[in-house]
Amino acid sequence: MKRSTPLLWISFGLVSLTLSILLVSDLAVDLIPNQSIERFKYRQQYSEALAVQYSLLAEHGDSRAIQEAFDLLVERNEDLVSAAVILANGEMLAFAGQHQVLWNQPPGDSSTSDHIQVPIFNGADRWGTVQLRFRSTNAQGWFDWLNDPWVRFLALAAGSGFLGYFLYMKRTLHQLDPSSVVPLRVKAAFDVLTESVVLLNTGERIVLANRAFCDVVGKPSNELMGKRLDEFHWSFVHPATRLTPFPWVTARKEKCLELDFPLMLPNSSGKLLKFHVNCTPILNEQEDVQGLLVSFNDVTILEEAIRSLEASKAEMESLAMRDPLTGIFNRRALFEAFEDLYSASSSEETDFGCIMADIDHFKSFNDRYGHAVGDQVIQVVANILSSTIRPTDIMGRYGGEEFCILLPGQGPKGTAIAAERLRLAIAARASQSVRTTGDTRITMSFGVSCLSLGASDPLELVDQADKGLYAAKQAGRNQVGQWTREGPMAGLAIELELLESFKV
Ligand code: GH3
Ligand code: MG
Ligand code: MG
Repeated sequence: MKRSTPLLWISFGLVSLTLSILLVSDLAVDLIPNQSIERFKYRQQYSEALAVQYSLLAEHGDSRAIQEAFDLLVERNEDLVSAAVILANGEMLAFAGQHQVLWNQPPGDSSTSDHIQVPIFNGADRWGTVQLRFRSTNAQGWFDWLNDPWVRFLALAAGSGFLGYFLYMKRTLHQLDPSSVVPLRVKAAFDVLTESVVLLNTGERIVLANRAFCDVVGKPSNELMGKRLDEFHWSFVHPATRLTPFPWVTARKEKCLELDFPLMLPNSSGKLLKFHVNCTPILNEQEDVQGLLVSFNDVTILEEAIRSLEASKAEMESLAMRDPLTGIFNRRALFEAFEDLYSASSSEETDFGCIMADIDHFKSFNDRYGHAVGDQVIQVVANILSSTIRPTDIMGRYGGEEFCILLPGQGPKGTAIAAERLRLAIAARASQSVRTTGDTRITMSFGVSCLSLGASDPLELVDQADKGLYAAKQAGRNQVGQWTREGPMAGLAIELELLESFKV
């Protein structure tokens, strides 16, 4: 329907032009003689012929013959409605039809198109006048207008001209329409595809765009005809490809397939879609390029799905590695990191420290304030520990209210100093962070060991640190116990040693 609207306008314009030419021609060369003038002339001649005959009858005083002739005349001549012979003295000699009613005397001896009067002379004297009243020639309504041959001619010219122009233009435009080279059944087949497809001519202009492509760009197929494909707002996915020509240009020039070229295009609602563009040159027998078939594989949803899958996978992995209560590494993740650090440090012959930390008298928090408060204490402690260690240190929840911290690159002294720093941080900050524990102090005991002290595997290193922890617990808690080559040490001895190391 949309396509035929311009056609109608063009046809209408051509018809108007034709009618204008006819009207101007008529004015210039009197294409069709003026009917009313011709009719007037004819009526005058007719009336004069009658007048001559009646003047002969009048000469013989044969008024009866005149009357009979009038009656016959009015009866047979449809154009004549009344007639009369008026003598010079004004007397009506003979009449036919309702002459007295129908006759409107024109000024003097003049005649009009439907009131004709012809004087009759007897020698030099005027004998009388023949008055003939013809049917009125003025158009009264539509029907009279339509009876006018000139109007009928113009109406016929307009009607047949419009139809002729419309059919002719339709055929001509169809020949000029680039999309007409593609048969309808081929278009229908392309429209079924969910993939966007366009067919380009050798000038890289669109001769066919399927429904999927029209939906992407938000334009009807006829508006895309003849548009260059590179006029759309394409953007390159990889900055490196920005200087390369569009794939359809390469496919046309090189006469080769261009596959999976990534390009992006905003759709009609502004969302940036990512496509893998495939271009196939259409060659004739002489291997000349006749056109190009370009298809656009929309990978936006696929890539979004992959991205969200990867994000979920990363989240799942992170969840699998994290302790749900504290958010720090769980025991499994801790041991994975432990194994890696152990083998790296063993092969690089570097040292690393291991701290085991346990909340003092934790059972009493559970017993006095309930399990929920116990959980809160574990969370607070985990927060203080992780904010106190260095970013390179690795911390995990070993189990219950026990934590394990690995310190890459640290030897016995460095590890003990770090443990002491952690102890002080807990003693200073933990209690005030958990209000419900009232005046109950939260403290922790620590046990430390290092790879350089001879552990043959991670578990042995943990065991050594655990023994240091046990020694700290035995010595009264809220202190650091250290594994040494002589066995575990705790309490004052280690603190004195630490004080010395701080002095250094
Ligand atoms: P010590 O000073 O000798 O360490 O005394 P303690 O009371 O802390 O003794 P122990 O370390 O053996 O206590 C461990 C308790 O921690 C036992 C268990 O009820 C409690 N526990 C273990 N895991 C959790 C947990 O996730 N939440 C809570 N609220 N309690 C836990
Ligand atoms: Mg414990
Ligand atoms: Mg404990």
